[in-house]
Amino acid sequence: MAHAVVVPPRSILPAIPLMAEPLLSRVWKAPVNAGPGRGIIGVSAMTRRFFLGTAAALGPSPAAPAPGGMPFRQIHLDFHTSELIGDVGAAFNAEEFAATLRDARVNSINVFAKCHHGWAYYDTKIAARHPALKFDLLGEMVRALRREGITVNYYYSLVWDVLQAARHPEWRAIAADGKPVGRPLDDTWPWLCMNTPYLDQVVAENREILDNYDVHGGWFDILKQPPGGCFCKWCLAERKKLGLSDSAADTYKHNKLVAMRVERRLFDLVRAKLPHGAVFFNSRIVIGVRDEMPLFSHIELESLPTGGWGYSHFQQRVRYLRTLGKEVVGMTGRFHKSWGDFGGLKNQAALDYECLNFLANGVKVCVGDQLHPRGRLDAATYSRIGVTYRKVEALEPWCRGAEAAADIGVMSVAATNPDMTTQKVPLADQGFTNMLLELHQQFNVLDLDSEFTPYKVVILPDEIRPSAALASKVESYLAGGGALLVSHESLLEPATRRFAIEALGVRYLGPAKFKGCYLLTIREHFPRLDDTPYFLYQPGTSVAAESGAEILATYGFPYFDRSKEQFCSHKQTPLGRRTGEPVITRKGKVVYIANPIFRSYAQDGYGVYKQVVGELLRKLLPAPLVLAPTLPSTAQVTVLRQGPRHVVHVLYYPLTRRAPDIDIIEEPGLLENVELRVRMDRAPARAALVPQNRALPFRHENGYAVCRIPRVLGHQAVSFE
Ligand SMILES: [Zn+2]
Repeated sequence: MAHAVVVPPRSILPAIPLMAEPLLSRVWKAPVNAGPGRGIIGVSAMTRRFFLGTAAALGPSPAAPAPGGMPFRQIHLDFHTSELIGDVGAAFNAEEFAATLRDARVNSINVFAKCHHGWAYYDTKIAARHPALKFDLLGEMVRALRREGITVNYYYSLVWDVLQAARHPEWRAIAADGKPVGRPLDDTWPWLCMNTPYLDQVVAENREILDNYDVHGGWFDILKQPPGGCFCKWCLAERKKLGLSDSAADTYKHNKLVAMRVERRLFDLVRAKLPHGAVFFNSRIVIGVRDEMPLFSHIELESLPTGGWGYSHFQQRVRYLRTLGKEVVGMTGRFHKSWGDFGGLKNQAALDYECLNFLANGVKVCVGDQLHPRGRLDAATYSRIGVTYRKVEALEPWCRGAEAAADIGVMSVAATNPDMTTQKVPLADQGFTNMLLELHQQFNVLDLDSEFTPYKVVILPDEIRPSAALASKVESYLAGGGALLVSHESLLEPATRRFAIEALGVRYLGPAKFKGCYLLTIREHFPRLDDTPYFLYQPGTSVAAESGAEILATYGFPYFDRSKEQFCSHKQTPLGRRTGEPVITRKGKVVYIANPIFRSYAQDGYGVYKQVVGELLRKLLPAPLVLAPTLPSTAQVTVLRQGPRHVVHVLYYPLTRRAPDIDIIEEPGLLENVELRVRMDRAPARAALVPQNRALPFRHENGYAVCRIPRVLGHQAVSFE
């Protein structure tokens, strides 16, 4: 399902004409998601060079919808239906359809105009209606949904279209080996190239839909390209004309250019008809999508935890997307596994967790479903969704316009090593995401354009490649009083093998002297850790401490490294000698760790690494946004700000791995007497359990509101106002 992609660092992207400054300012300064100290995050995006092929593509962008205005309870209703099925829509009843959704408390839905098979589900003179469909399904859906007051966007499949691939083989995307990309069953769907006359066909079909149907917006799926570039005749000719080679860097540029040209044409088409209409392009939601944001009305984060994405994916990605100045919708699925999983129904507790976790991270909720070909929604599915959506609805008064707060900004390693695979989370990102969640820290994920100043601590994990711009940004952040945690080879210049900033307090000597080293913590700096050598499962770096840098932990070396010639026992060679060579140093508010500790946490799961980072954060961030000393690491806590109100969410849904690639949540966990300390300069007037709206006793001491939640069964929110 996922394709590995090698793409160049952003610094080599070409200079493209700037979008008109006042226009970008209008888009980016819209106070959407402008949380405390975060309104400025979008500003640097104003200077982003825009990546469109022709100046003509740079038309005006109408203003975005009112902030916070999107519906909270959405459904994405898949309907990819083979022409071999002969009774499409035969059991569809418009009133029943809308009533099922209404009764499940759904207030927005994406329904199908055109599917991956290429069939249309509406009356059309341009596209091809599904041969078995006897009526205007889209039209009946839209009218019934409108009557129930449910927002309706139409779904349209872009790159995957079986029908057009058969009719126009010349429009197919071509890989470097000259073969068309994608075959049904072994590689999902045939891919079309959006740089062919197919785009004109797409635009004509969408114009017809927008002219004839009273929808609220368009939802465009599968806007992606072969990672190694497309070798169709149109792409070859255009790259030649633009002077772009077939190198990874140039194909990345060309892919981006083609994708943003599609976005521009469809965005303008929808907005010409619907000035505030929803426009979303799926398959583009990666670290580095920031420059495409002016062509999106909002962001949707497709992340089905049991369908190949895993539970870490949403946690990493949402913490980036929510900083981009757009409303965000989290999308899971009702499936046991992934899309198209007929007869696979997710556990109620898992659905509850996934949706409540969206709210706990300041984003809206969407559940993916697939309609049976005959057109009847499944009653059990909507009963289950209804249970969850009633919980969501009850919490909405404390979620509307709420912004997640964060002390810590962590740069994604994809910021300097971009990857267009939407499902993929780099190992280092997975490591810091899980570690910080388990430590109950509040954090956002950054790219190179993110502002550092809103954060008390910035982390550059393991492999952040330096540039002059990044070094200068880090230096001015430190000069302004920020704290920094750097690990392994982050900020290490590949050519000179020197660190890009002097404030780090260490000099690079080379790779660690042994592959299998031990971490020797100095007790006064890590009083909560047992005093014993801890193995470093991944090899790190060798550094010397510069003057002014304090050594917090040192290396222990093995007798020898394990090899064919010399080995001892089953695994790593035991500790041979203790050394004074630093593994962890601190100089003022800058900490350096000479090991890929975040990637290693994802690979090795050794809790000691989390304890080490936890202790270091205690030094750099003595007063975090929230302290929950009795909360287990498997529980989550998030802090949101809703105007003057603080809303804290505690989630406890333990998951266990019960299949090789699937983590299962079967029931909510129970916690009692949970102590919460929430940083607040002034004592709030009232604390209450929400949505119960029941007053909760609290006290205010040392800048924290302190309370105890009597009972958490899966989820409990607390409001301080
Ligand atoms: Zn092409």
